[in-house]
Amino acid sequence: MHRGLVLLSITVLQIVSCFITAAVPAAEISMGEAAARYPGIVFLNGKSELKVALTFDDIPDPYYTPAILDILNQKNVQATFFVIGNKARNYPEIIKRIVDEGHCLANHSWDHPYLPRLSARDIQDQIVSTGSLLFNITGSRTEFFRPPYGAMNDMVITAANRLGYKIVLWSVDSNDWKGYPPERVLQNILGAVKPGAIILQHCGNDGTLKSLDTLIDTLRQRGYDLVTIPQLLQLESNPQKVIHLVVNGRELTAPVSPYLTDSNRTMVPLESTIKLLGCEIKTARGDTIIAVIQNHITVEFYNNSAHIYRPGNTRLSKIIMEEPVAVKQNNVMVPVRSLAKIMGLELVWHGKTKTVILTQP
Ligand SMILES: [Zn+2]
Repeated sequence: MHRGLVLLSITVLQIVSCFITAAVPAAEISMGEAAARYPGIVFLNGKSELKVALTFDDIPDPYYTPAILDILNQKNVQATFFVIGNKARNYPEIIKRIVDEGHCLANHSWDHPYLPRLSARDIQDQIVSTGSLLFNITGSRTEFFRPPYGAMNDMVITAANRLGYKIVLWSVDSNDWKGYPPERVLQNILGAVKPGAIILQHCGNDGTLKSLDTLIDTLRQRGYDLVTIPQLLQLESNPQKVIHLVVNGRELTAPVSPYLTDSNRTMVPLESTIKLLGCEIKTARGDTIIAVIQNHITVEFYNNSAHIYRPGNTRLSKIIMEEPVAVKQNNVMVPVRSLAKIMGLELVWHGKTKTVILTQP
């Protein structure tokens, strides 16, 4: 081989390997490690009480999901279903049925990728697209996320947490996806089940479907209550304090829900609300966020006040916030009444549905 060519190929290889090193995402962490490192965010199981949760992944499909729902209905059992977004798109009526029959719906990504290989942006898209689809079908938010294959790195956990999700893994694996017969699926679960267990099954196998009846009976004979994930984890949530926000006719779904403070003021995420209004965030530095609103008017948001400027930097006015700005899951939260005043919006409060409606006049 020509010497120059060898040199050249070595250089190219070096460049390529540098690039690969730089592109390697955060290291993968095991399920146990994730639960230990992120208490209150990542869950392998519930408390040691005589309760277990049946969970069904990779739903919906037109055959197994309805058949499993029939059995659960007959046995009066509520379970948790982890949804793949691009499947749910085709079967919205099955998704509605799951909610109507009292089960818990949860997020299992858009198309079941191996998340640790994705960029932070793509991980977020996987979660948000499924969450938004489920919100559009059911009118409620999903609170739990299960990464496909239980595969995670810090980026996956951070993304899910920032979007308001708890990560729900499992402590008992039925291994039903391997196509085992019903007896083997039963044995895999009953041999490993303990108080507080989260049991992993899938909608897509005869073994799962044909063992379900006996599984429920046997677990009950052993004294277990069969519950949903929120019942098993008994997380502190105060639905009274969650507020819906509709901006120019569109409900805000991400990244963090509006909430009521102790002094009864509604806080909303500043950046996503401003974006829904079609305004632009110019720059965010430190604790100052600068937004450009209509007619090139600029607003600088500070902790306790907002300053409004005309083009050419003439200050028009200063508005004191009715509640200091807060940060929740890395989002700047501002009191909605002050925001309406600053941006010149009409604000309507609908008490029955706990909804704030903001409209640009
Ligand atoms: Zn899955």
